[in-house]
Amino acid sequence: MKTLVFGQTGQVARELARRLPLGVSAAFLGRDRADLSDPAACAAVIAACDADVVINAAAWTAVDKAEVEEAAALVVNGQAPGAMARACAVRGLPFLHISTDYVFDGAGDQSFEVYHPVAPLGAYGRTKLAGEQAVQAAGGRFVILRTSWVVSAHGANFVKTMLRLGAERGSLNVVADQIGGPTPAADIADALYGMAAGLLAGKPGGVQHFAGGPDCSWADFAREIMARAGLTCVVQDIPSSAYPTPAKRPLNSRLDCSGLAEFGLKRPDWRSGLDKILQELVV
Ligand code: NDP
Repeated sequence: MKTLVFGQTGQVARELARRLPLGVSAAFLGRDRADLSDPAACAAVIAACDADVVINAAAWTAVDKAEVEEAAALVVNGQAPGAMARACAVRGLPFLHISTDYVFDGAGDQSFEVYHPVAPLGAYGRTKLAGEQAVQAAGGRFVILRTSWVVSAHGANFVKTMLRLGAERGSLNVVADQIGGPTPAADIADALYGMAAGLLAGKPGGVQHFAGGPDCSWADFAREIMARAGLTCVVQDIPSSAYPTPAKRPLNSRLDCSGLAEFGLKRPDWRSGLDKILQELVV
Protein backbone atom coordinates (compact mmCIF):
# COMPACT_ATOMS: atom_id res chain seq x y z
CA MET A 1 0.00 0.00 0.00
CA LYS A 2 1.44 3.36 -1.06
CA THR A 3 0.24 6.20 1.13
CA LEU A 4 0.39 9.93 0.49
CA VAL A 5 0.17 11.93 3.72
CA PHE A 6 -0.53 15.67 3.97
CA GLY A 7 1.38 16.79 7.05
CA GLN A 8 4.85 16.03 8.32
CA THR A 9 5.52 17.90 11.55
CA GLY A 10 2.24 17.35 13.41
CA GLN A 11 1.59 14.82 16.18
CA VAL A 12 -0.37 12.38 14.03
CA ALA A 13 1.85 12.78 10.95
CA ARG A 14 4.96 12.00 12.99
CA GLU A 15 3.37 8.85 14.36
CA LEU A 16 2.24 7.83 10.88
CA ALA A 17 5.91 8.07 9.87
CA ARG A 18 7.09 6.03 12.86
CA ARG A 19 4.44 3.32 12.70
CA LEU A 20 4.44 2.19 9.06
CA PRO A 21 3.01 -1.32 8.95
CA LEU A 22 4.89 -4.00 7.04
CA GLY A 23 4.29 -3.62 3.32
CA VAL A 24 3.17 0.02 3.61
CA SER A 25 5.15 2.97 2.28
CA ALA A 26 4.32 6.61 2.81
CA ALA A 27 5.36 9.99 1.41
CA PHE A 28 4.89 12.92 3.80
CA LEU A 29 4.14 16.42 2.53
CA GLY A 30 5.14 19.30 4.78
CA ARG A 31 3.91 22.84 4.34
CA ASP A 32 6.78 23.51 1.91
CA ARG A 33 5.47 20.87 -0.52
CA ALA A 34 1.74 21.22 0.05
CA ASP A 35 0.34 24.34 1.71
CA LEU A 36 -3.27 23.80 2.69
CA SER A 37 -3.84 27.53 2.26
CA ASP A 38 -3.74 26.66 -1.46
CA PRO A 39 -6.39 23.94 -1.92
CA ALA A 40 -5.90 23.75 -5.70
CA ALA A 41 -2.21 23.01 -5.23
CA CYS A 42 -3.08 20.18 -2.81
CA ALA A 43 -5.49 18.73 -5.36
CA ALA A 44 -2.80 18.96 -8.04
CA VAL A 45 -0.41 16.92 -5.89
CA ILE A 46 -3.02 14.17 -5.65
CA ALA A 47 -3.75 14.31 -9.38
CA ALA A 48 -0.06 13.62 -10.07
CA CYS A 49 0.66 11.09 -7.29
CA ASP A 50 1.21 7.34 -7.56
CA ALA A 51 -0.36 6.54 -4.18
CA ASP A 52 -3.10 3.98 -3.45
CA VAL A 53 -4.55 5.99 -0.58
CA VAL A 54 -4.36 9.57 0.73
CA ILE A 55 -4.40 10.68 4.39
CA ASN A 56 -4.82 14.29 5.51
CA ALA A 57 -3.06 14.73 8.85
CA ALA A 58 -2.52 18.50 8.47
CA ALA A 59 -4.91 21.10 9.85
CA TRP A 60 -5.24 24.52 11.43
CA THR A 61 -5.23 23.35 15.06
CA ALA A 62 -4.81 26.72 16.80
CA VAL A 63 -8.28 26.72 18.34
CA ASP A 64 -8.18 30.18 19.93
CA LYS A 65 -6.46 31.84 16.96
CA ALA A 66 -9.22 30.51 14.70
CA GLU A 67 -11.65 32.79 16.53
CA VAL A 68 -9.93 35.83 15.05
CA GLU A 69 -8.74 34.31 11.76
CA GLU A 70 -11.70 32.13 10.84
CA ALA A 71 -11.51 32.83 7.11
CA ALA A 72 -7.90 31.65 6.91
CA ALA A 73 -8.68 28.60 9.09
CA LEU A 74 -11.63 27.77 6.86
CA VAL A 75 -9.39 27.52 3.80
CA VAL A 76 -7.06 25.08 5.61
CA ASN A 77 -9.68 23.04 7.49
CA GLY A 78 -12.62 23.30 5.10
CA GLN A 79 -11.65 24.04 1.53
CA ALA A 80 -8.36 22.13 1.33
CA PRO A 81 -9.81 18.79 2.57
CA GLY A 82 -12.68 19.27 0.11
CA ALA A 83 -10.28 19.82 -2.78
CA MET A 84 -8.25 16.77 -1.68
CA ALA A 85 -11.35 14.59 -1.44
CA ARG A 86 -12.56 15.64 -4.89
CA ALA A 87 -9.13 14.94 -6.40
CA CYS A 88 -9.18 11.51 -4.73
CA ALA A 89 -12.69 10.82 -6.02
CA VAL A 90 -11.58 11.57 -9.58
CA ARG A 91 -8.70 9.10 -9.21
CA GLY A 92 -10.74 6.51 -7.28
CA LEU A 93 -8.38 6.81 -4.30
CA PRO A 94 -9.68 6.32 -0.75
CA PHE A 95 -9.27 9.49 1.35
CA LEU A 96 -8.83 9.52 5.13
CA HIS A 97 -9.38 12.77 6.97
CA ILE A 98 -9.20 13.65 10.68
CA SER A 99 -11.87 15.69 12.44
CA THR A 100 -12.76 16.57 15.98
CA ASP A 101 -15.14 16.37 18.92
CA TYR A 102 -15.45 20.18 18.54
CA VAL A 103 -18.10 19.65 15.83
CA PHE A 104 -20.49 18.91 18.73
CA ASP A 105 -21.90 21.41 21.21
CA GLY A 106 -20.76 19.45 24.26
CA ALA A 107 -24.22 19.34 25.84
CA GLY A 108 -25.34 16.51 28.10
CA ASP A 109 -23.32 13.68 29.52
CA GLN A 110 -23.90 10.91 26.99
CA SER A 111 -21.37 9.78 24.38
CA PHE A 112 -22.01 11.44 21.04
CA GLU A 113 -22.95 8.95 18.36
CA VAL A 114 -21.61 9.45 14.85
CA TYR A 115 -24.93 10.76 13.55
CA HIS A 116 -25.70 13.02 16.50
CA PRO A 117 -26.55 16.51 15.18
CA VAL A 118 -23.48 18.72 14.91
CA ALA A 119 -23.42 22.23 16.42
CA PRO A 120 -19.91 23.63 16.86
CA LEU A 121 -19.41 26.17 19.64
CA GLY A 122 -16.62 28.10 17.92
CA ALA A 123 -14.71 28.95 14.78
CA TYR A 124 -12.33 25.96 14.85
CA GLY A 125 -15.26 23.54 15.11
CA ARG A 126 -17.09 25.35 12.31
CA THR A 127 -14.09 25.10 9.98
CA LYS A 128 -13.56 21.41 10.81
CA LEU A 129 -17.26 20.76 10.18
CA ALA A 130 -16.96 22.51 6.81
CA GLY A 131 -14.13 20.09 6.01
CA GLU A 132 -16.27 17.10 6.95
CA GLN A 133 -19.12 18.32 4.77
CA ALA A 134 -16.83 18.98 1.79
CA VAL A 135 -15.26 15.51 2.08
CA GLN A 136 -18.68 13.88 2.26
CA ALA A 137 -19.92 15.86 -0.75
CA ALA A 138 -16.94 14.88 -2.91
CA GLY A 139 -18.49 11.57 -3.82
CA GLY A 140 -15.47 9.34 -3.23
CA ARG A 141 -14.59 6.63 -0.72
CA PHE A 142 -13.59 8.20 2.58
CA VAL A 143 -13.15 7.88 6.30
CA ILE A 144 -13.59 10.93 8.51
CA LEU A 145 -12.00 9.96 11.82
CA ARG A 146 -13.24 12.22 14.60
CA THR A 147 -10.91 12.19 17.56
CA SER A 148 -10.24 14.21 20.73
CA TRP A 149 -7.52 15.38 23.12
CA VAL A 150 -4.57 14.21 20.99
CA VAL A 151 -1.30 13.63 22.87
CA SER A 152 2.15 12.39 21.95
CA ALA A 153 5.81 12.90 22.72
CA HIS A 154 6.02 15.58 20.00
CA GLY A 155 4.72 19.08 19.50
CA ALA A 156 2.67 21.03 22.00
CA ASN A 157 0.09 19.04 23.94
CA PHE A 158 -1.42 18.58 27.38
CA VAL A 159 0.98 15.85 28.53
CA LYS A 160 4.02 17.98 27.80
CA THR A 161 2.45 21.04 29.44
CA MET A 162 1.60 19.05 32.58
CA LEU A 163 5.11 17.58 32.81
CA ARG A 164 6.63 21.05 32.56
CA LEU A 165 4.28 22.70 35.07
CA GLY A 166 4.30 19.65 37.34
CA ALA A 167 8.07 19.88 37.65
CA GLU A 168 7.95 23.62 38.39
CA ARG A 169 5.01 23.87 40.80
CA GLY A 170 3.70 22.26 43.95
CA SER A 171 0.10 22.50 42.87
CA LEU A 172 -1.84 23.24 39.72
CA ASN A 173 -5.46 24.18 38.92
CA VAL A 174 -6.92 22.11 36.09
CA VAL A 175 -10.38 22.17 34.53
CA ALA A 176 -12.54 19.35 35.89
CA ASP A 177 -15.87 19.92 34.13
CA GLN A 178 -14.74 19.08 30.58
CA ILE A 179 -14.95 15.32 30.01
CA GLY A 180 -13.47 13.45 27.06
CA GLY A 181 -11.12 10.79 25.81
CA PRO A 182 -7.38 11.49 25.69
CA THR A 183 -6.09 9.93 22.47
CA PRO A 184 -2.46 9.00 21.81
CA ALA A 185 -1.44 10.03 18.28
CA ALA A 186 0.25 6.64 17.92
CA ASP A 187 -3.12 4.91 18.27
CA ILE A 188 -4.66 7.27 15.72
CA ALA A 189 -1.87 6.43 13.28
CA ASP A 190 -2.44 2.69 13.72
CA ALA A 191 -6.18 3.15 13.26
CA LEU A 192 -5.69 5.21 10.09
CA TYR A 193 -3.50 2.53 8.53
CA GLY A 194 -6.02 -0.13 9.53
CA MET A 195 -8.88 1.87 8.07
CA ALA A 196 -6.92 2.63 4.88
CA ALA A 197 -6.39 -1.10 4.36
CA GLY A 198 -10.07 -1.66 5.10
CA LEU A 199 -11.17 0.90 2.52
CA LEU A 200 -8.87 -0.67 -0.07
CA ALA A 201 -10.39 -4.05 0.77
CA GLY A 202 -13.85 -2.64 0.02
CA LYS A 203 -15.16 -1.61 3.44
CA PRO A 204 -17.65 1.26 3.17
CA GLY A 205 -15.98 3.79 5.52
CA GLY A 206 -17.85 6.98 6.44
CA VAL A 207 -17.63 8.96 9.67
CA GLN A 208 -15.93 7.15 12.55
CA HIS A 209 -15.26 8.11 16.16
CA PHE A 210 -11.88 7.17 17.58
CA ALA A 211 -10.98 8.33 21.08
CA GLY A 212 -9.00 6.82 23.92
CA GLY A 213 -10.81 5.45 26.94
CA PRO A 214 -11.83 5.62 29.69
CA ASP A 215 -13.40 9.07 29.49
CA CYS A 216 -12.12 11.44 32.14
CA SER A 217 -11.78 15.13 32.97
CA TRP A 218 -8.68 17.17 32.16
CA ALA A 219 -8.00 17.24 35.92
CA ASP A 220 -8.23 13.42 36.17
CA PHE A 221 -5.92 13.17 33.17
CA ALA A 222 -3.47 15.60 34.78
CA ARG A 223 -3.44 13.58 38.02
CA GLU A 224 -2.71 10.39 36.07
CA ILE A 225 0.15 12.14 34.24
CA MET A 226 1.65 13.37 37.51
CA ALA A 227 1.33 9.96 39.18
CA ARG A 228 2.77 8.00 36.27
CA ALA A 229 5.61 10.51 35.83
CA GLY A 230 6.45 10.37 39.56
CA LEU A 231 5.64 14.07 40.09
CA THR A 232 4.28 15.20 43.45
CA CYS A 233 2.44 18.25 42.06
CA VAL A 234 -1.12 18.32 43.44
CA VAL A 235 -3.86 18.88 40.87
CA GLN A 236 -6.83 20.95 42.08
CA ASP A 237 -10.18 20.81 40.27
CA ILE A 238 -11.49 24.07 38.84
CA PRO A 239 -14.50 24.81 36.61
CA SER A 240 -14.04 25.99 33.01
CA SER A 241 -15.43 29.36 34.09
CA ALA A 242 -12.25 29.86 36.15
CA TYR A 243 -10.03 29.32 33.10
CA PRO A 244 -11.44 31.59 30.37
CA THR A 245 -10.18 31.10 26.80
CA PRO A 246 -11.07 33.00 23.59
CA ALA A 247 -12.76 29.89 22.16
CA LYS A 248 -15.42 28.10 24.17
CA ARG A 249 -14.62 24.40 24.71
CA PRO A 250 -17.29 21.67 24.81
CA LEU A 251 -17.97 20.37 28.32
CA ASN A 252 -18.89 16.95 26.99
CA SER A 253 -16.45 15.49 24.45
CA ARG A 254 -17.39 11.83 24.96
CA LEU A 255 -17.40 10.04 21.60
CA ASP A 256 -19.29 6.80 21.00
CA CYS A 257 -16.68 4.65 19.30
CA SER A 258 -18.78 1.53 18.74
CA GLY A 259 -18.56 1.88 14.95
CA LEU A 260 -14.87 0.96 15.09
CA ALA A 261 -15.85 -2.72 15.19
CA GLU A 262 -16.53 -2.40 11.45
CA PHE A 263 -12.77 -2.11 11.00
CA GLY A 264 -11.91 -4.67 13.68
CA LEU A 265 -10.76 -1.83 15.97
CA LYS A 266 -11.69 -0.72 19.46
CA ARG A 267 -11.05 2.25 21.72
CA PRO A 268 -7.44 2.27 22.87
CA ASP A 269 -6.76 2.59 26.61
CA TRP A 270 -5.01 5.97 26.83
CA ARG A 271 -3.23 4.93 30.06
CA SER A 272 -0.96 2.50 28.24
CA GLY A 273 -0.39 5.07 25.49
CA LEU A 274 0.48 7.61 28.18
CA ASP A 275 3.07 5.25 29.67
CA LYS A 276 4.76 4.94 26.28
CA ILE A 277 4.79 8.73 25.83
CA LEU A 278 6.28 9.16 29.30
CA GLN A 279 8.96 6.59 28.55
CA GLU A 280 10.04 8.84 25.67
CA LEU A 281 9.82 12.10 27.58
CA VAL A 282 10.90 11.29 31.13
CA VAL A 283 14.45 10.08 31.50
P1 NDP B 1 -0.68 19.39 15.11
O1 NDP B 1 -1.16 20.68 15.64
O2 NDP B 1 0.31 18.60 15.88
O3 NDP B 1 -0.08 19.59 13.65
C1 NDP B 1 -0.79 20.28 12.66
C2 NDP B 1 -0.06 20.03 11.38
O4 NDP B 1 -0.76 20.71 10.33
C3 NDP B 1 1.36 20.54 11.37
O5 NDP B 1 2.16 19.61 10.73
C4 NDP B 1 1.26 21.82 10.57
O6 NDP B 1 2.44 22.13 9.88
C5 NDP B 1 0.20 21.42 9.59
N1 NDP B 1 -0.38 22.60 8.96
C6 NDP B 1 -1.07 23.60 9.54
N2 NDP B 1 -1.40 24.52 8.62
C7 NDP B 1 -0.90 24.06 7.43
C8 NDP B 1 -0.92 24.56 6.10
N3 NDP B 1 -1.51 25.73 5.80
N4 NDP B 1 -0.33 23.84 5.14
C9 NDP B 1 0.28 22.67 5.43
N5 NDP B 1 0.33 22.14 6.66
C10 NDP B 1 -0.25 22.84 7.65
O7 NDP B 1 -1.97 18.51 14.79
P2 NDP B 1 -2.37 17.08 15.34
O8 NDP B 1 -1.47 16.06 14.75
O9 NDP B 1 -2.57 17.17 16.80
O10 NDP B 1 -3.82 16.95 14.69
C11 NDP B 1 -4.08 16.07 13.61
C12 NDP B 1 -5.56 16.15 13.29
O11 NDP B 1 -6.32 15.82 14.44
C13 NDP B 1 -6.06 17.51 12.82
O12 NDP B 1 -6.98 17.32 11.78
C14 NDP B 1 -6.78 18.07 14.03
O13 NDP B 1 -7.79 18.97 13.67
C15 NDP B 1 -7.34 16.80 14.63
N6 NDP B 1 -7.60 16.88 16.06
C16 NDP B 1 -6.61 17.27 16.91
C17 NDP B 1 -6.85 17.35 18.26
C18 NDP B 1 -5.77 17.76 19.22
O14 NDP B 1 -6.00 17.72 20.43
N7 NDP B 1 -4.57 18.13 18.75
C19 NDP B 1 -8.17 16.99 18.83
C20 NDP B 1 -9.13 16.55 17.83
C21 NDP B 1 -8.84 16.51 16.51
P3 NDP B 1 3.50 23.23 10.43
O15 NDP B 1 4.38 22.48 11.41
O16 NDP B 1 4.22 23.64 9.20
O17 NDP B 1 2.72 24.32 11.07
